[in-house]
Amino acid sequence: MASSDTIIAIASGAAAGGVGILRLSGPLSASIARGLGCPALRPRHAHYARFRDAAGEAIDDGIALYFPGPRSFTGEDVVELQGHGSPVVLRQLLARCIELGARQARAGEFSERAFLNGKLDLAQAEAIADLIAAGDVRAARAARRSLDGVFSRRVEDVAEWLVRLRIHVEAAIDFADEPLDTLGGAQVRAGVEQARDSLACLLADAERGRKLRDGLHAVLIGPPNAGKSSLLNALAGSERAIVTDIAGTTRDTLRETIRIDGLELELVDTAGLREGGDAIEREGMRRARAEMQRADLAIVVLDARDPDAGRQAIGDAAAQAARQLWILNKCDLLPQWPQQLDEDVIAISAASGQGLEQLHARLRELAGDGAGEGQQGEFSARLRHVQALVRAAAHLDDADAQLRHEQLELAAEELRLAHDALGEITGRMTADDLLGRIFSSFCIGK
Ligand code: GDP
Ligand code: ZN
Repeated sequence: MASSDTIIAIASGAAAGGVGILRLSGPLSASIARGLGCPALRPRHAHYARFRDAAGEAIDDGIALYFPGPRSFTGEDVVELQGHGSPVVLRQLLARCIELGARQARAGEFSERAFLNGKLDLAQAEAIADLIAAGDVRAARAARRSLDGVFSRRVEDVAEWLVRLRIHVEAAIDFADEPLDTLGGAQVRAGVEQARDSLACLLADAERGRKLRDGLHAVLIGPPNAGKSSLLNALAGSERAIVTDIAGTTRDTLRETIRIDGLELELVDTAGLREGGDAIEREGMRRARAEMQRADLAIVVLDARDPDAGRQAIGDAAAQAARQLWILNKCDLLPQWPQQLDEDVIAISAASGQGLEQLHARLRELAGDGAGEGQQGEFSARLRHVQALVRAAAHLDDADAQLRHEQLELAAEELRLAHDALGEITGRMTADDLLGRIFSSFCIGK
């Protein structure tokens, strides 16, 4: 599926640096390099060259590298030009290459071509973007493993198993008058059971990989004046949110991303929840509920002096989140520090900092399932992958139910749908518009 046009982009980012890299991919790559003044390029050799404009004036000098397809990143002819990392020089070189017949690449277009030419599957291509965006060593390692195909291979293993089951079930359909059991029905059902187990395990690992990539999405919630903004500031270590003692001050949602031992937590400080209130406060409450539905964790901040009143004010909002952590704040104002609380109830003082260490420890556990260093074989994943795995699991459940009722055709169809859902992860079965959305979120030059 070779592309007819040749694309170019600055691959080394927009900022100035010692070395800047331009990357060309497509049939004209080598001839454009010649047009710039490069000597005849030997494959996979470094050539020193002076890069010249149309008038023969030197724009820069540097190194040219030629990787003929298919042994290149994109699978097409690729040329890399390394010059000085000046944005002005790089833009001049880019413009000259466009004069010579290249076209400015869209975001993610190099990776897209690598995918279309079978150099990478879709999950691997996405791992490139995740590796580049990784915020810490653990996330980078996980993305690196996905790029190496660790995640894709596990998806393919389940997919292959499903192929075998489909063959078995579809063969049995041809003997429709025989009962399934005489056709090895017990074996098929055991096979479906095994596929469900592997998928459940894969889903749990992918969910962990998604959290590594996206961070734990935590939302702070609580009645006015409980100390949400103070806690946000204490965790973030800055004066990000405005702290006042007038109830209902925090009307907008403020976002703060903090890192604890390499794990990312997004805190959204929402308007104090209060039934009634003015229109702005009610809008804040509506937003708080919406935020909760997207949250992995609701951090509920209560005034330790009257937690029950706070709990009432929140109503069911915190229950919208997947998980809750209860914070008793202002414990410094109690005659005595609370003793023996549940692991998901933590006593703190945002003002003095007491109890924050314990809160950090608990957040770390919740975010990483306790895996501080990252486990062997840990890979990165995206929400899209998790959703596809969930769909595959649901179709497998349905296949299982249909087999129990000897509905072989329906079971075969569910197995096919489960198989297709897995295919979306690696790109074996992916609609073009989805591909467009995935690659357009990459940065230019990748
Ligand atoms: P929010 O409305 O929930 O965001 O509450 P704020 O963070 O704005 O805090 C309300 C008031 O409580 C402010 O005057 C804070 O200084 C005070 N406050 C917050 N946390 C504590 C605490 O742990 N101890 C004490 N004594 N006061 C606190
Ligand atoms: Zn506040």
